[in-house]
Amino acid sequence: MEKRFIYADNAATTQVSEEVLESMLPYFRSEYGNASSIYKLGRDAQRTIENAREKVAKALGADANEIYFTSCGSESDNWAIKGVCDKLSAKGKKHIVTSVFEHHAILHTCKYMEEHGFEVTYVPVDSKGLINPEDVRNAIRDDTAIVSIMFANNEIGTIQPIEEIAAICKEKKVIFHTDAVQAVGHVEIDVHKMGIDLLSLSGHKIHAQKGIGALYIRKGLSLPNFLHGGAQERNKRAGTENVPAIVGLGTAMEIACSDIEKKAEIVTARRNRLIDGILKLPHTRLNGDRDKRLPGNLNISIEGVEGESLLLMLDMYGICASSGSACTSGSLDPSHVLLALGLKHEVAHGSLRLSIDENTSDEDVDYILEVVPKVVERLRDMSPLWERIQNGESID
Ligand code: PLP
Repeated sequence: MEKRFIYADNAATTQVSEEVLESMLPYFRSEYGNASSIYKLGRDAQRTIENAREKVAKALGADANEIYFTSCGSESDNWAIKGVCDKLSAKGKKHIVTSVFEHHAILHTCKYMEEHGFEVTYVPVDSKGLINPEDVRNAIRDDTAIVSIMFANNEIGTIQPIEEIAAICKEKKVIFHTDAVQAVGHVEIDVHKMGIDLLSLSGHKIHAQKGIGALYIRKGLSLPNFLHGGAQERNKRAGTENVPAIVGLGTAMEIACSDIEKKAEIVTARRNRLIDGILKLPHTRLNGDRDKRLPGNLNISIEGVEGESLLLMLDMYGICASSGSACTSGSLDPSHVLLALGLKHEVAHGSLRLSIDENTSDEDVDYILEVVPKVVERLRDMSPLWERIQNGESID
């Protein structure tokens, strides 16, 4: 078998695409003006930023003046939650509703708010990784400031009933934020139609560079500044604009959000082939609902193997994959997402996340399906637990 290089970790980050890079390059070279400067070079930079803002807005069904550029998805999440809490705490609203399996950008922000006098209700997810909107309804109280539920989960890819949750929040007159970092560019999103008040996104998940994000803030909703200083971003987010990154995000959004359905169909077929192929191995299970998931995501628990060893062996075959969230790698704790589904610790430890996209070919899928069983067999042969698992003994 000839060794190939296959990047199947697009949920962690993506390669900057040629089109994105090309659109950015002039803004490092000849068009380097500060968008706040009064001369032409500066005015051109400002116009370029507004052009990118239009593109981001159009891709989300928003108006341009509802888009604010940030440095990343984490900043957008922090701004949304801390901003709303800051604004509404004076009115006695000191309660947050979120879910147990959010990204740490949300969970750690909520923890911070708890340390500052807020209460947080964490709604559960079912064994398929889906949130029941009625649980959100029941969690909302008179003093709830914000509900924050992710659009799609970063580890298991499940897509949440966002429109239903947004409708409940509207009925209850509570602000609704969604962390759509993993969903943008992969599923159709129309913030106005869906009734979303705040939405976070990040460039590096859709072939733009790392270190650029955006927060959609519905018209009429004004958040306090998160970064104080200059008058950039209509006085709302200080800091000299990163023009090349903003241009790149505009290009990436335009490309990612065009033809979503067609791309999703192709990617879903390849993903399903991967799921079916890997599930042929005994003692495996798919994590997350099979259908209500991102086109490119599969997350499979493989009993009798240990996640880190699996990833290192796959790396030897040139396959980049992940076992939990990239942001928690380095930690030996099992993923909070997989535990929330009810998986036992040792099963959660042996999980494989592959996140493919339209650049993943049928040949790449064939190669992965050739390598994974080989690697799993070798690891299981070395595992002291595998025989016991085969005998149906419980491993504690
Ligand atoms: N939210 C989700 C769901 C994510 O997957 C990530 C990154 O993995 C983030 C937020 C953080 O985004 P960023 O890396 O741009 O800060």
